Amino acid sequence: MKRFAALMTSVALLATQSGVAQMGAPGERPTTLAAAPGPLATKYKADADRILQAAMNDNDGYAALAYLTDHIGKRVSGSPQLNTAIAWGAELMRKAGLQNVQVQPVMVPRWVRGNESATIQYKGEAGPITKPLHMLGLGMSVGTPKGGITAPVVFVHDFAELDALPDAQVKGKVVVYNPGWHGYGIGSMYRTGGPSRAAARGAAAVLVRSATGLALQIPHTGTLRYDEKQPKIPSAAISVEDALLIERLAKEGPVTVHLEMEAHMEPDVKAGNLLGEIVGSEHPEQVVVLGGHIDSWDVGQGAQDDGSGIMATFEAVSLIHKLGLKPKRTIRIVFWVNEENGGAGGRAYRQWIGDRIGDQVAAIEMDGGAEKPLGIGYGGFGGPRRPAPPAPGAAASSATRPGFDIGTLTPEEQRSFASLRDIVSLLGAIGTDTVSPGGGGSDIGPIVADGVPALSPHTVGEHYFDWHHTEADTLDKVDPDSFKRNTAMLSVVAYVLADMDGRLAGRKGEVRE
Ligand SMILES: [Zn+2]
Repeated sequence: MKRFAALMTSVALLATQSGVAQMGAPGERPTTLAAAPGPLATKYKADADRILQAAMNDNDGYAALAYLTDHIGKRVSGSPQLNTAIAWGAELMRKAGLQNVQVQPVMVPRWVRGNESATIQYKGEAGPITKPLHMLGLGMSVGTPKGGITAPVVFVHDFAELDALPDAQVKGKVVVYNPGWHGYGIGSMYRTGGPSRAAARGAAAVLVRSATGLALQIPHTGTLRYDEKQPKIPSAAISVEDALLIERLAKEGPVTVHLEMEAHMEPDVKAGNLLGEIVGSEHPEQVVVLGGHIDSWDVGQGAQDDGSGIMATFEAVSLIHKLGLKPKRTIRIVFWVNEENGGAGGRAYRQWIGDRIGDQVAAIEMDGGAEKPLGIGYGGFGGPRRPAPPAPGAAASSATRPGFDIGTLTPEEQRSFASLRDIVSLLGAIGTDTVSPGGGGSDIGPIVADGVPALSPHTVGEHYFDWHHTEADTLDKVDPDSFKRNTAMLSVVAYVLADMDGRLAGRKGEVRE
């Protein structure tokens, strides 16, 4: 059993990296299984063709995304824009004719960035050089004292290098991490855990290379997670170029950072998860849930992350209703709240489901951007969402991901893969007729951990982490044709899952969030 559990964790690892693993080296791509038509393809061909045609001719979904991004804009948890977006979304669902439209109240944190800046000073040929850094404070970071912090830099690539330094070399300094780019799992690990890890050694502040593979002097924010046992120190992301500059300069001589951040927390604010449904004709209590998160960061427009996810899933459901299709089970669209800096929406949804968990037939989350989809990812095997931080002393390297072997799954899980390969055979016309091991999302994490099968679009994943959590996450990054293909795929998959006789297998597991 232990070996099996380890295997499932590796499957989950692939799962968590969907839209992520394919960002790195080609060898990191999850195995993709081809379509294999069966009885579901025969039964649902006519309905699926109608859905595909309607979705590929639909402009309403993208228009709604344009309105959300341009006229409501960024919508960080606790901001008035977030609640404006929720109210607007509810009206959109009602106008589309969805049933049981409701806002499920959720209290969310209100983190406020305020003004912020960072400069470095070092010895130049003609005297000291002062250079502003391209920086963005990390979400949930504390600010600096008024007037800022001025301290020498200690540069490290990874946790192993930090651990190897004597305390005296870290205490009172600004730790700068540049772990390189080995995919989002590793990059975000330094962002979320790096601040407290440096604080434990007495550091005064942290600057971390942005979690991206693209260097265009753009800092990428994202949440940090403080270890309550350590002092909270101000922390910011810097551009790839600035991280590399500090790395070069630190080899030559002393570099000093001046960091000023007004970041702070304000009292929690009432927001909510937004829900709408097509109520099932035969088994209304059984639910296929799909959606994304309505909150974003406080920079850019939250267009790919995750405006594209909520609008594509919404349009997918809306089209099923528009076409007059009546699935046997309920299809529920959810715009979860507070994914970016807390996960309160996902937890509140799990709590609301309570002991009806067994009636949650499938959970589909789209939170990897609306890039060109290749097929559907299937996970739901639980396990950690991100790779665990390396143990002290261990080098941070790209984790080895064992290949996926379907033969090692349970018969029920193998049947589920077969059903999905049957379903995706309906999607050949839009080029999304594959199934990949690995799917899910953090909003559905709490129900997936209790055994609900998880799915998500598997895309080419070429540029998502170029724009993610930056000022550049704007509408122009979302290609209308790719957006439609995601909508079309999700619409067919959700409809068939809600109407077919059997259901997919899930797997209870621990989600370390
Ligand atoms: Zn997201």
